Amino acid sequence: MESERRGRPGPGISTRAVHAGSMPPEANAPVVTPLVHSATFYTETEPSGEVRYTRYGTNPNHQVLAAKLSALEGAEAALVTASGMAACAMTLLALLRTGDHVVAPRALYGGTRTLLEEELPRLGIATTLVGDEDWEPALRPETRVLLAEVPSNPTLRVSDIRRLADLARERGATLVVDATFATPVNLRPLEHGAHAVYHSATKYLGGHSDLTAGVVAGSRELVETARTRMKSFGASLDPGAAWLLERGLKTVAVRVERQNRSAQALAEWLASRDGVERVLYPGLADHPDARVARELMDGFGGMLSFVVRGGDEAARAVLDRLRVFRAAPSLGGVESLVSMPRYTSHAKVPAEERHAQGIADGFIRLSIGIEDVEDLRDDLDRALGGPA
Ligand SMILES: *Cc1c(COP(=O)(O)O)cnc(C)c1O
Repeated sequence: MESERRGRPGPGISTRAVHAGSMPPEANAPVVTPLVHSATFYTETEPSGEVRYTRYGTNPNHQVLAAKLSALEGAEAALVTASGMAACAMTLLALLRTGDHVVAPRALYGGTRTLLEEELPRLGIATTLVGDEDWEPALRPETRVLLAEVPSNPTLRVSDIRRLADLARERGATLVVDATFATPVNLRPLEHGAHAVYHSATKYLGGHSDLTAGVVAGSRELVETARTRMKSFGASLDPGAAWLLERGLKTVAVRVERQNRSAQALAEWLASRDGVERVLYPGLADHPDARVARELMDGFGGMLSFVVRGGDEAARAVLDRLRVFRAAPSLGGVESLVSMPRYTSHAKVPAEERHAQGIADGFIRLSIGIEDVEDLRDDLDRALGGPA
């Protein structure tokens, strides 16, 4: 069961999502964390006292979120940042210095790939991108970070985090996981040996497509080093967005459980629908990583991809006919969205490489929202038209 606690003590994921990190329930205190817009805070008179400043990530709205997110991930500490890319960049800058090397899969969020291929080399940090093959031959003595996206965008591959964590440990490197597509409701990478996990909180954690934020969780030491980078690069989260993120997080478990169920049902239905060539969903038995997904994940997520017969033209016609699903990049909100990665996240990837990644010309990516699943199915049914 999705929400079943795997023999762990303490409150379950839904209870943590609602209550962890909240301010003490003292009489007359507000039930909801007040939004504190203050950029700065009065100091204590003794010089050793904490200096609170919103850019440092120590605004009360940040602190409540950090406590909630570390409880959700089972981490020592967490830090919220201005965006998912800020979380990714601050984590990598915390772990890497000139001369170091990163190994990551080629199937990576476009922004992460640009950071690795264009920004980090300017600092003298090299990256090797690997395909489906074993990661081991790509490792060098100076490899400091293994970076994985689980599940990956848009083919929803599920890397075996346990194996990558072992490999990283053997080589004195660190495994960092971008678990944006999974959320801590479905996957907590630290439980499987990863050293750090980060998210674009813009997606499922916020859940309403109305804020941009990121989070990194891991050891206190790593999080404090990431905070040092965040202070220098000025990548902290606005308190207004932090307040909205806390509000969104309280419902993450119910939203994601619904999205898991709807995506599974739609994946099964699409797999037998005329006009559909292939369905990619980690909860389907024919997914290449179905076994790993079952071992690592409590649910398989709300992202679902499929390939229509007839290639690009047919896929664009499907997008045009959809009424409930709307075309937009991004994902993880309450509303269902649709995109063709070849025109969005993978627009810069050469056709040959796109095809090698399994992104055929008729490839469509769905972000399943919380609408009635029957309406989503009818919408897809109508858009796919009669038997091909
Ligand atoms: C959206 C996304 C990011 C970047 O997050 P932002 O909040 O847009 O900066 C990183 N990784 C994945 C997997 C994403 O989907």
